[in-house]
Amino acid sequence: MEKKSRDFLMQLLKVPSPSGNEIAYQKVWKEEVGKFAEIESDEAGNVIGILNRKAPFRVLLSGHADEISMTVTRVDENGFIRFTRSGGINPQVLAGLRVKVYGFAGTLNGVIGFKLDRSKEPEAKLDIDDYFIDCGAKSAKEINKMVRVGDYILYQGEPEILLNDRIVSKALDDKTGSFMIAEILRRLSRRKLQVAVYGCSSTGEETNMRGAYFAGARIKPNLAIALDVTFNTDSPGEEAQNRAEVKIGAGPVLSLGSAVNSKLNEFIEKTAKKNKIKLQLELTPDRTSTDADKIHFSGEGVPVALVSLPVRYMHSPVELASLNDIEAIVSLMVETIASLTGKESFKPI
Ligand SMILES: [Zn+2]
Repeated sequence: MEKKSRDFLMQLLKVPSPSGNEIAYQKVWKEEVGKFAEIESDEAGNVIGILNRKAPFRVLLSGHADEISMTVTRVDENGFIRFTRSGGINPQVLAGLRVKVYGFAGTLNGVIGFKLDRSKEPEAKLDIDDYFIDCGAKSAKEINKMVRVGDYILYQGEPEILLNDRIVSKALDDKTGSFMIAEILRRLSRRKLQVAVYGCSSTGEETNMRGAYFAGARIKPNLAIALDVTFNTDSPGEEAQNRAEVKIGAGPVLSLGSAVNSKLNEFIEKTAKKNKIKLQLELTPDRTSTDADKIHFSGEGVPVALVSLPVRYMHSPVELASLNDIEAIVSLMVETIASLTGKESFKPI
């Protein structure tokens, strides 16, 4: 990956984008993508980069900008902040984490407090209500000056590069997807295209998928591909067993199952083979639980595919993925879209 692109990914990973307030992040994305694509936005907060708009065949790419977060529910009399989740925060990983509270009147650093001795209840599974945030305050008054109900709280989880070009950060889900869309648009802007490309940095996926629906319903694409992250099977306790194997660093993961279009999948597989890009497969038998589902059911129905980045420790502050996989997904999507003539039919029969 070029240094400039890597720097942009690092920048995106540091900008807050809780599901429901992605504005700061979307502005950064728009600024960069506006250098090589036409830009549109909508009432859901999506930002869309467009190439070759005049072509009648429209391709929509979607990667979500929003990250899972916590939301303030109340401040207790001692100044501890209680919270609920917006998106799939896993209570089992919360104890002792550092967080940032994005208050209406300023940002506070804090930690997720916990009881030291849980030995009397070894089997008890922790729930979100068992936790509180400690910002060092002595009283509720101190906190209430800066924080109110509904303010967002995010993990602190600055990106770092580990061995073998592996990256660790919070919110690789799915800022890597929205980053890849920017990269794909950048590279396609230098290619000759026979289709129109709409690259959407979408909003709200972790909570209600509003962005994907707005984009699909308005753009009415002839086909759509969602770029998201998926679960690995190559770390202790996550062995494949009855799942298809998904390894970090082993390439893009193509989803199979009822929700995705088999002819579109065939087209992607052929492109991968031609360009010597190794693919992994996973099964999403009923639905994909990504933007692809919402776009699929927008308008008169849209043929969709899902291409995923393998990620370890999903929805924690230390999501781990391979920069080589990111690069491979970008290449696969660039070649797939550049080889579309706009005359393809995705009717299976
Ligand atoms: Zn996601």
